[in-house]
Amino acid sequence: MKNKVIKDEKQLYSKMFIYKTFLYSFVKFSIDSQDEETVNIVKALNIKNPFKRVEFIYDYCCKKLDSFYEGKNICGFKNNKCIVQQGPNCKFCNGCCRLCRYQTTKGCTTSNLSCKLFYCDTIQKNNETLKYKDLKILKLFNLRQKMMVNDNFFAHRKEFLLELKLSLISFWGIRMLLRIIKNLIYCKKLKRERTQ
Ligand code: SF4
Ligand code: SF4
Repeated sequence: MKNKVIKDEKQLYSKMFIYKTFLYSFVKFSIDSQDEETVNIVKALNIKNPFKRVEFIYDYCCKKLDSFYEGKNICGFKNNKCIVQQGPNCKFCNGCCRLCRYQTTKGCTTSNLSCKLFYCDTIQKNNETLKYKDLKILKLFNLRQKMMVNDNFFAHRKEFLLELKLSLISFWGIRMLLRIIKNLIYCKKLKRERTQ
């Protein structure tokens, strides 16, 4: 495996779109940085198994969000009702999780990245929240995976990861199909040229 030293964060972020591709499958990256997310992006780039890389990114984001909100009750939960549900005519409880099968009296029993990123307007107006753009490591995902992170609520971690991994396969599939078509066109052309 070849070694590649990434000069700085500027280089990392500008070239990340190419570093994450199969072209760097046999390259081990390193960077000298004190920034914890930068170090983890490089760690993710060094995981060459695409499924394991997806899992690493997912768990890293969940951990980052959990530690950011640790000890803060920004939804103002009181007697199982969030600040929005404490209004006079609201009979609901358990906040946004009230209709989810993974919700229990002890809270969520799984780890859903979309849910961890979601906060309603009331909360966003008055609190500092971590947003999608704050998780730069998500740039390592493809377009479909990025869209999924935005709204895949009410899903178990395992289901979520499976869907993220499947979207990786279909991207591969499309790429492979394109390669086969290109190859066929090339071979046909070559055959025609030889018979002339
Ligand atoms: S995000 Fe808003 S609606 Fe959801 S639990 Fe928090 S306060 Fe309630
Ligand atoms: S998966 Fe989401 S909606 Fe369901 S309990 Fe967990 S945080 Fe709530």
